[in-house]
Amino acid sequence: MRTCIGCNGIRPKQELLRIVRQEDGTVSLDPPGTLNGRGAYLCRNLNCFDLAVKRKGFARTFKAAIPGDETAGLRDGFERAISS
Ligand SMILES: [Zn+2]
Repeated sequence: MRTCIGCNGIRPKQELLRIVRQEDGTVSLDPPGTLNGRGAYLCRNLNCFDLAVKRKGFARTFKAAIPGDETAGLRDGFERAISS
């Protein structure tokens, strides 16, 4: 079980989408859950993504803020991932 950094709901890992901050600072979606780095989990729901941004859940989990322009790109990717 993992905690969604948006709504703080606790769900089985496979129902959540993993986002990883790698050692070099790259933040990317990691649907298979195989990338190394600090992982954050989100429900497959855009509301949770937005909540995570608003509550600074990413910054807290990754110990580093995501720059604003990267957040937008990540949101687009997240939207595509949950609708596929
Ligand atoms: Zn959630």
